[in-house]
Amino acid sequence: MASPVAIAAQAGKLLRERALRPRLLAVRSQAGHFTPRRWLNLQEYQSKKLMSEHGVRVQRFFVASTAKEALEAAKRLNAKEIVLKAQILAGGRGKGVFDSGLKGGVHLTKDPQVVGQLAQQMIGYNLATKQTPKEGVKVNKVMVAEALDISRETYLAILMDRSHNGPVIVGSPQGGVDIEEVAASSPELIFKEQIDIFEGIKDSQAQRMAENLGFLGSLKNQAADQIKKLYHLFLKIDATQVEVNPFGETPEGQVVCFDAKINFDDNAEFRQKDIFAMDDKSENEPIENEAARYDLKYIGLDGNIACFVNGAGLAMATCDIIFLNGGKPANFLDLGGGVKEAQVYQAFKLLTSDPKVEAILVNIFGGIVNCAIIANGITKACRELELKVPLVVRLEGTNVQEAQNILKSSGLPITPAVDLEDAAKKAVASVAKK
Ligand code: GDP
Ligand code: MN
Repeated sequence: MASPVAIAAQAGKLLRERALRPRLLAVRSQAGHFTPRRWLNLQEYQSKKLMSEHGVRVQRFFVASTAKEALEAAKRLNAKEIVLKAQILAGGRGKGVFDSGLKGGVHLTKDPQVVGQLAQQMIGYNLATKQTPKEGVKVNKVMVAEALDISRETYLAILMDRSHNGPVIVGSPQGGVDIEEVAASSPELIFKEQIDIFEGIKDSQAQRMAENLGFLGSLKNQAADQIKKLYHLFLKIDATQVEVNPFGETPEGQVVCFDAKINFDDNAEFRQKDIFAMDDKSENEPIENEAARYDLKYIGLDGNIACFVNGAGLAMATCDIIFLNGGKPANFLDLGGGVKEAQVYQAFKLLTSDPKVEAILVNIFGGIVNCAIIANGITKACRELELKVPLVVRLEGTNVQEAQNILKSSGLPITPAVDLEDAAKKAVASVAKK
């Protein structure tokens, strides 16, 4: 049995993450930053592996990390035609452009040699699509799959929908293309089935969706069967969204998932260990990964005041108050509940590794955290890292008196602050002076 304190700490962590995520992302987009990804996302090939394990029909494929591997995979597939697909987490790859000059992140060819040549121009290069930052995202892997002819492309997605308090299946016979455009120009071509999570998907619902998508004859049963299997997968893996575009049909009469995008409920990590272990962090900023290694949450912003905080509320308040006082945060580092001295040291190391940082503001409320531990971590980090930028510290809560004594008697040039307002003012002033 976990202790009540551990349970409370865990609950606090979940609440913090939930609250922190959307608001910080909003702040970040206000600050002109694009966040391609912060939470578990799988590449197409990983999603398709899960799908195929659950009876969902996908094409045969291999994954390659070099052009040579891609060529070998193409030969091994021994297919009439091959489709080569760059693996990045953003969509719109088909119409994307590489900084190698190559156009298109999805290519069809009958010649394995061409697969090798194309892969050469994909791997190691950035692919820019409508959904990536301007400079694109580096391609580390390609998927080499057996191409199938497509006679019709439809759209299918299953998502956890807040307004319905449960899963909804969304489909359109107009697939392949940007679904937002379809929704805007022909909303009558978007169909929805609301699923009762306790009753599960009904045959009649799967059939009706298959029909709305335009599958006829025996294809209708096949499509309904695939929809049910996708729904079961969705539930079993704690997905928040499974999107298949195109959900297509072949001239031979098969319903196939040609593309796949799965999003997960990050709070389900504890029961989806195998899936979370597949997490490909290569598209994260390196500093985010480094922070995650020490159980710290890092969010980069574009100002010059580094913020070292604990908790979502405090993070947002700190951000707001810095703005109000005419400053701009450079980043956030959020400490968890059970902080250790070593973590504080790592946190400082990360914060100061950002060349934009001209001052550091520590704003920690010791509820679960003991302020003295933070104070010891701070003084140790200051000495060992030979901190060059002004440091303003506001500590409050458990054992704060001892913490203040530690800071004061350290002889280090640390500026204490009595409250958040005071801390923000001092941090902004220290940057302005420069
Ligand atoms: P996205 O552009 O990132 O969404 O990548 P997709 O996997 O959806 O591929 C883009 C487009 O390439 C699809 O909409 C299809 O039209 C086409 N495509 C993908 N795989 C195949 C295939 O096996 N055969 C054929 N004929 N077209 C394919
Ligand atoms: Mn697609």
